[in-house]
Amino acid sequence: MTVRVRIAPSPTGNLHIGTARTAVFNWLYARRHGGTFVLRIEDTDRERSLPRYTRNILAGLAWLGLDWDEGPIYQSNRIERYREVVQQLLEQGLAYRCYVSEAELEEMRTAQKAAGKAPRYDNRHRYLTEEQRQAYEAEGRQPVIRFKIEEPLEVSWVDLIRGQITWNTQDLGGDMVIARADGYPLYNLAVVVDDLDMAITHVIRGEDHIGNTPKQILLYRALGHEPPQFAHSPLILNPEGKKLSKRDGATSVAEFQQMGFLPEALKNYLALLSWSPPDGEEIFSFEKAATLFDFDRVTRSAARFDWDKLNWI
Ligand code: GLU
Repeated sequence: MTVRVRIAPSPTGNLHIGTARTAVFNWLYARRHGGTFVLRIEDTDRERSLPRYTRNILAGLAWLGLDWDEGPIYQSNRIERYREVVQQLLEQGLAYRCYVSEAELEEMRTAQKAAGKAPRYDNRHRYLTEEQRQAYEAEGRQPVIRFKIEEPLEVSWVDLIRGQITWNTQDLGGDMVIARADGYPLYNLAVVVDDLDMAITHVIRGEDHIGNTPKQILLYRALGHEPPQFAHSPLILNPEGKKLSKRDGATSVAEFQQMGFLPEALKNYLALLSWSPPDGEEIFSFEKAATLFDFDRVTRSAARFDWDKLNWI
């Protein structure tokens, strides 16, 4: 099997060092296995995506020397493709139009909270009759497209970093919104369609996406495919164990560049934050790391950013 991995940043901010570290792992894994590293820009969020962030991400990856083999592929150029898949899911009865309004959803959540239950969509529009549907249309309500999630059902995968992970579909919040009324896709749908179309074999990303993985696995199955392998890497926290923020000094690659760090130093530091080479191996260069990198030596616990260590590199 030819390894194909990808980094899929959303251009809603400058290249964050967490994303750069994900890129480092993907790059190392691709090089180790003679694979292909794809760059995809996930710019479907029309309000928050900005061209200057895309420029910053491309420049940051290039500065780090994390050269990609394919791309950048822009999701905004693929909207028709996602629409086609949404249409297919609708026709197969695997997805449906849901007309529940924001106010009704809010009411639903409030009642669930009051009853001590976790808020979720209760799938109430899953079986609308054609008459009911037309009545909502006549009211001028804008539906969303929801994908049916069978419950209860266990979804498991063997994560290459974290081992076996199992989710019950009852914890996924009910049928999931995959597109707006006009078929404009939401994150989980676009990611699955892209990873399939781009023949991605290993999805290596931050552990903040673990909760999306069972939803994506269900989508793969609905589309008639086996999911790729997943590796969820630990997050990078500040020295106190909290989310790394502006107050910690710097969070974007561009800031490190401005401070005068060398790309090789930053990239080695990011690689070694959660990964250690096999015993006795000294890392002389990033190229050397690429001959040794594997998931079995990536830690599961969150990494803490340590300025003292970085300053010594
Ligand atoms: N666009 C997502 C993000 O920036 C990444 C999606 C993924 O890796 O699956 O967090």
